[in-house]
Amino acid sequence: MDHSTTLPTELLISELQSFGARLSDPTAGAQSRRGGAGPSDHKALTIDGMTVMVPVHTAPAFQSPYLVEQPDALGTSRIRRDGRVVGEVAFPLRPRFYDRTTADGIPYSHIATLHGRDVLATTVLQTCIRYQSRTRTCQFCAIGQSLAAGRTIAHKTPAQLAEVARAAVELDGVRHMVMTTGTPKGDDRGAAVLADSARAVKAAVDLPIQAQCEPPEDDAWFERLRDAGVDALGLHLEAVTPQVRARIMPGKAQVPLDKYMSAFAAAVPVFGRGQVSTYILAGLGDTRDAILDMCARLVALGVYPFVVPFVPISGTPLESHPTPSPAFMDSILAPLARMLVESGLKAVDIKAGCGKCGACSALSTYERRLAP
Ligand code: SF4
Repeated sequence: MDHSTTLPTELLISELQSFGARLSDPTAGAQSRRGGAGPSDHKALTIDGMTVMVPVHTAPAFQSPYLVEQPDALGTSRIRRDGRVVGEVAFPLRPRFYDRTTADGIPYSHIATLHGRDVLATTVLQTCIRYQSRTRTCQFCAIGQSLAAGRTIAHKTPAQLAEVARAAVELDGVRHMVMTTGTPKGDDRGAAVLADSARAVKAAVDLPIQAQCEPPEDDAWFERLRDAGVDALGLHLEAVTPQVRARIMPGKAQVPLDKYMSAFAAAVPVFGRGQVSTYILAGLGDTRDAILDMCARLVALGVYPFVVPFVPISGTPLESHPTPSPAFMDSILAPLARMLVESGLKAVDIKAGCGKCGACSALSTYERRLAP
């Protein structure tokens, strides 16, 4: 099936991620994500072979110049910009594991969800020490919203995660798993619960796993995570300058940038070059140069910087914050992709996780253009 576009794919993806899209048929494709940790209020769309997350429930999306038409019998939809057809997209189907429930009656979709095309994603602890008060919470995060709305459970046990992971591999062919967590009390900052979860999943099914947490106080956790079955690690900066960090995430900014840099340096020898990554949200105030300078430092350490456009989530303090323009994203992603390809740190070589999935950014599409 040809899902080619009349715009360069990376530009169409950047525009869709900045502006969002209106849907003629909001029920088409898999259920969209609302609330939760990380990017939300999105729907997965496949464009030119790439599955990307496109905002559909955000304030900008309701004003978007992009309209995705009703899918045809083959599941293909035309996409229009200001009325003109600019390409075709397909909606990944609703995963089959969503129809199952655990023996004690919990829907599998409350334990883990499908991200992009083939990623199983879970937030092991749906609570966070940073989420207790609005003065400490990360301003972009909605980790408590899906819990409050009854779409997930507060703590997914290792046995539940193993059960759902096995089904998602067998029924839907998922190829890797992302385990993130709200930050609990304690110096391990979530590493202990992630290690227990990874051990259980690996005992049930052969599935590459990325774990994501704040840097644990003790670097020995990196070996413990690897020994438990974690293949790749995400330590997410979100913002790269102390000023923006303090404004956007006053609680998490108490862990200084130096701690992140020393954790990256300690984690890369454990997991390997390119298997440690970070998530950087562009559009929250860091300049292009500040982001690219940080990316250069990270790449020199062997860390993959996954730069994504900030997308506001309804109900968070930043719900009215604008998204970055496609031109701003292009000014970062084009040189970053060159830096990554030249350094041999490519999304396709990551074993598991957000950088490998790539659905929240056009970065891997830029990489593919340079090194098909
Ligand atoms: S990039 Fe990460 S957060 Fe985004 S869809 Fe993929 S796994 Fe989920």
